[in-house]
Amino acid sequence: MIKDYNDYKKAVDTLKTWAYHYYVLDNPLVTDEEYDRLYHEVEKYENENPDKIDPSSPTQRVGDVVLEGFEKAKHLTRMWSMEDVFNENDFLDWVGRVKRLLGHSDFSFYIEPKFDGASLNLVYENGKLIRAETRGDGEIGEDVTLNAKTINSIPLEIKEKSLIEIRGEVVIKKEDFDKLNEERIKNGEPTFANPRNAAAGSLRQLDPKITAKRPLIFYPWGVGKGIENGEFRVNNDEYSKKIITKYSELMEYVYSLGFKAPPKRGVCKDIPCVEKKYNEFIDLRDSFEVMLDGMVVKVDELKYHDILGYTQKYPRWMVAYKFPAIEKETIIEDVIVQVGRTGVLTPVAVLKPVEIGGVIVERATLHNFDEIERMDIRIGDHVIVIRSGDVIPKITKVLEWKRTGDEKPIPRPTHCPVCGAEVLDEGAIIKCQNLSCPARVVNTIIYFASKNCLDIEGLGESVAKLLYEHGLVKDVTDLFELRVEDLEKLPLFARKKAENLVNAIKSKVGVECWRFVNALGIEHIGEVASKKICEKFGVEFYKHSPEEFEEIEGFGPEMVKSIAEYIRVNKEKIEKLIEILKPKNLEKKEIQTTPFTGKTVVLTGTMSKPRSEIKKMLEDMGAKVSSSVSKKTDFVIYGEDAGSKYDKAKKLGVGLLSEEEMWKMIESEK
Ligand SMILES: [Zn+2]
Repeated sequence: MIKDYNDYKKAVDTLKTWAYHYYVLDNPLVTDEEYDRLYHEVEKYENENPDKIDPSSPTQRVGDVVLEGFEKAKHLTRMWSMEDVFNENDFLDWVGRVKRLLGHSDFSFYIEPKFDGASLNLVYENGKLIRAETRGDGEIGEDVTLNAKTINSIPLEIKEKSLIEIRGEVVIKKEDFDKLNEERIKNGEPTFANPRNAAAGSLRQLDPKITAKRPLIFYPWGVGKGIENGEFRVNNDEYSKKIITKYSELMEYVYSLGFKAPPKRGVCKDIPCVEKKYNEFIDLRDSFEVMLDGMVVKVDELKYHDILGYTQKYPRWMVAYKFPAIEKETIIEDVIVQVGRTGVLTPVAVLKPVEIGGVIVERATLHNFDEIERMDIRIGDHVIVIRSGDVIPKITKVLEWKRTGDEKPIPRPTHCPVCGAEVLDEGAIIKCQNLSCPARVVNTIIYFASKNCLDIEGLGESVAKLLYEHGLVKDVTDLFELRVEDLEKLPLFARKKAENLVNAIKSKVGVECWRFVNALGIEHIGEVASKKICEKFGVEFYKHSPEEFEEIEGFGPEMVKSIAEYIRVNKEKIEKLIEILKPKNLEKKEIQTTPFTGKTVVLTGTMSKPRSEIKKMLEDMGAKVSSSVSKKTDFVIYGEDAGSKYDKAKKLGVGLLSEEEMWKMIESEK
């Protein structure tokens, strides 16, 4: 409980530390619940003592002001554009120019990922964030300070006291981008074409409350005002008169002020090292949670920047080494309408096949018919398609100027394309309401057997269709009555395959509770919600009241209503499935001690497996994986090309383990 101002100040500091670990280090110290509890206490104290509010309190990130428009703001130093190169030859040309201008080749390269987002310039004075500006034309941008303050990875206060411009990219995770679009579709709003547009659009909201709701992230990539005569003079009580002369050191200093550090950055001494990094980035690009469109290469020594100077548009000391395109032009050959297990009709564009980033793309989602009308998409149109990792291929633009007049508009369906029943048109959502519509039944079976549900091997789309068409399965409960003799009669079903499928289905008896709940396909209830339901109530969840479901953390009225309605209609079916499947309640994992239990670990350098995989493995062994090295770190585990974290660990006397040594330690425990 907060009793006085002292308690309040302490609580604010605690919240700030928690938020830093959560938003910047991706390493939460407490549960969301604990954070919220303290946040509300702080808020309560502030409501009662409005004259004592600390302006750096996390509650002060979102104000009550709605703007009429954005003020113009002049940057203290120009925000330059970057020269793009698309292949090795162009990159080597750039290096050649740098060497010629410098008259020698005694310099290094600083490498960092190039995020695909919206640029933002943050101005700090005396350690306080005084302004945030969009790039604009490079000289003058728009003042978006109120919105920037809502982004939790932007510190409101830093320990550097000089007047400094910290520049970076506002981005949104690919996963959050998909969620945001799904939500917009539900609300009948137009979708964002790509994560970049979503980030830029969110940053330029007149109501900061809307920006606050968007999960935006800020990654710094540079410093404007502050670098002078090839150096940066640190003005920070914690360092005495430190002078920084390299970009890599300057950025590490910026991250240490409370900013998020990008993955896979580092220094290269020569071109083969740069090329190696470039290829690694391309291999890993889909696995990054944020969209990358290239890597930035900068001359690391600040003293050479003034010598190299600027063209009309670009600094000569840096270049964006772009990845192969993920956006390409193609033609819409047709539009088909799919009917999902809930009956929703989804239009899908059939494209003239096009290779994008090594993958042939033949289909793209069109979301819904409102979206088709809004974008005025027609069959025969030339369009731009984007693909990246887990983002579903999507049409971002119609090239209207390429139209010949032969393009055909896409009519809104009035009847289900599969069963012919009249549809319910609710605007953004058009639904086939026929419960026994073949598409709905088949998709329910496919979903039931899918990876995050019962995970039945050998029961995919084609088999599900076959089973339905031959009258063997009309409802998921029928799956458990399939006999080898019936399956053998199906086309392409040899005895072995029939046996395998029957066994695969039988093996699901005793499945984990959450898989069973998830497999029911209750609207708004996914994997996470299913786990929460099973944790709270176990298999007998259907015997509980809506009021009890309301008590589950994160369950809103929409979810509760959906469960209650499902239970009301399907009680018998649930009981029958429980009888057949006998789902198991969650068992608490036994915690074993390992060499990493309770240890704080930092990973650095290139490893033999994706960093995220190793991180998860260590966490499963009870380690806390942090992204920055401090005295509290127990081990720094390093791969190839380990950089500043390795050096820092050495300086602090922190334990160093090579990746190989880590594997040996794990192995010896088994
Ligand atoms: Zn239908």
